[in-house]
Amino acid sequence: MIKPGLLQTGPLLPIIERAIGDTFTVRRVWELGEANAIKPEIANSIEAVATGGQIRVDATLMRSLPNLRIVANFGVGYDSVDAAWAGQNGIVVTNTPDVLTEEVADTTLGLLLMTVRELGAAERHLREGKWPAGNYPLTPMTLRTRSVGILGLGRIGKAIAHRLEAFGVPISYFGRRKQPDVPYTFYDSLTGMAEAVDTLVSVLPGTEQTHHLINMDIMRALGPNGVVINIGRGSVIDEAALIEALQHGVILSAGLDVFEFEPEVPDELIAMERLTLLPHVGSASVHTRDGMGQLVVDNLLAYTGNQPPPTPVPETPFNGWD
Ligand code: NAP
Repeated sequence: MIKPGLLQTGPLLPIIERAIGDTFTVRRVWELGEANAIKPEIANSIEAVATGGQIRVDATLMRSLPNLRIVANFGVGYDSVDAAWAGQNGIVVTNTPDVLTEEVADTTLGLLLMTVRELGAAERHLREGKWPAGNYPLTPMTLRTRSVGILGLGRIGKAIAHRLEAFGVPISYFGRRKQPDVPYTFYDSLTGMAEAVDTLVSVLPGTEQTHHLINMDIMRALGPNGVVINIGRGSVIDEAALIEALQHGVILSAGLDVFEFEPEVPDELIAMERLTLLPHVGSASVHTRDGMGQLVVDNLLAYTGNQPPPTPVPETPFNGWD
């Protein structure tokens, strides 16, 4: 039996590579030269793409693969895939929701606590042998007096809020709609929420609508005691404005797991010792990444088995494979 062709955009976990090797004829972008200049006989054979966001799976690439039926994205955020175009052209895009929610929420609380109590800088104080010469200074920030506003009260946002309840801090959220059965204070204006709280936690997806939603005006509204935590996507924060705001005391600090041009992180941010900067590790445990990998496999095998995919994205509702 001839195996269907699958285009792989970059290295994937062994759990995925094993399964796709068994089921598909795997073509690796980096072995084919330019992604947008794949030879027609190979392009015609491709029915699936497996991607971890290494390259953009845009309309140009998908148009060049006339028999493409499924793009399986490793990650709940699928901003590197043009899902709207895929939906209009009968291609199903899948992502990996839920299996990473609790892990990312755990990481967010770690990032928040590290930032307000300067735990990264305090650890460096010890490791650099400075403790015998003097205690690490008292931190001006504490979670005890803070009120937190969440941007993006979705799956992960709710898991973050649930944890924050145990920390006893007031919780608000900004969104496009008030959610029934949610006990937190709702704001339909981000500026309004930023004026009312002193800590913003962003867990928004990277879309055209969320691009630079956190800008200088929002940071001014947050004020000089303000802390910005970003676990969602780097593009949500105007990074140049953030640097300026931090350098000029418009806000006090930031904890970032994601960056606008990652893996590039501006020297100005690295130079600010008080900040907590993580290299996009929100979901990065073996346990959770394997769960995400299994979901990528399950979606791809649903295609070859003529079954509904477990997790299509909203832009590409499943209507059958034919
Ligand atoms: P989700 O359940 O879809 O939640 C996203 C939330 O954002 C929803 O409440 C949605 O509101 C809101 N939202 C979307 N666009 C908006 C806009 N323009 N204005 C206001 N609110 C908007 O997704 P999730 O599973 O929680 O994941 C959220 C994001 O986290 C992912 O897209 C990904 O980018 C990021 N993430 C990062 C890491 C990491 O390692 N740092 C790991 C996993 C995920 P509606 O209900 O109105 O659509």
